[in-house]
Amino acid sequence: MVVPKYKRILIKLSGEALAGEKGIGINISTVQKMAEEIKEVHDLGIEIALVIGGGNLWRGEPAAEAGMDRVQADYTGMLGTVMNALVMADSLQQVGVDTRVQTAIAMQQVAEPYIRGRALRHLEKGRIVIFGAGVGSPYFSTDTTAALRAAEIEADAILMAKNGVDGVYNADPNKDKTAVKFDELTHRDVINKGLRIMDSTASTLSMDNDIDLVVFNMNESGNIKRVVFGEQIGTTVSNNVEKEED
Ligand code: UDP
Repeated sequence: MVVPKYKRILIKLSGEALAGEKGIGINISTVQKMAEEIKEVHDLGIEIALVIGGGNLWRGEPAAEAGMDRVQADYTGMLGTVMNALVMADSLQQVGVDTRVQTAIAMQQVAEPYIRGRALRHLEKGRIVIFGAGVGSPYFSTDTTAALRAAEIEADAILMAKNGVDGVYNADPNKDKTAVKFDELTHRDVINKGLRIMDSTASTLSMDNDIDLVVFNMNESGNIKRVVFGEQIGTTVSNNVEKEED
């Protein structure tokens, strides 16, 4: 029997992963397809938490640059992530996966508040937990939310699902034909080389808490499963590259 490399994972989806071809808003059939992918892995007994961004609906920083109050703009963004979480939860429920949304901003009619102990219980009972509203504070991102929640629930790894990008490159592969993909990197490399996988707060948090990160292409069917079973796809970021070669 093939043993999975990771038993408890946190999948980070950018909001755009829910948008389909238009790149903005929510495309329900795109979400449904993604829910099927996630269900396939869940059916193997893997514990799954999800953090979904909100960039398909709203981003705080550009709104602030255009003159809006930054804090207000960021709260708007956090509410966007809740919309994405609710839609994904519905799609997962519809394919038969018990799912709970927990939000970092209390909205009791809509979702549970984030309570770590409860989240752990849900995971142990085989429920998928979706963390909405980021960390609940402005000036943060959902990448940082992913790193923080992964540490809190003691996830084995963060699966950073990218839209059409199959890993981390030394240059933009769309612009530079000589760009080379890294199979493995350390968190320190990512910070020192200024590689833009996640924002620097999220990178530092992952490094300090020794959380592995796998960056891979979500658009290729079966890729979450491949990562979970330790197939070398995408780019793995950890504190110790040798560790991966043992
Ligand atoms: N946001 C925030 N605090 C958080 C998480 C998110 O203020 O803890 C806001 C922020 O304005 C951000 C928006 O929510 O621009 C959407 O999240 P993000 O940009 O991380 O989404 P993604 O790029 O992953 O789709």
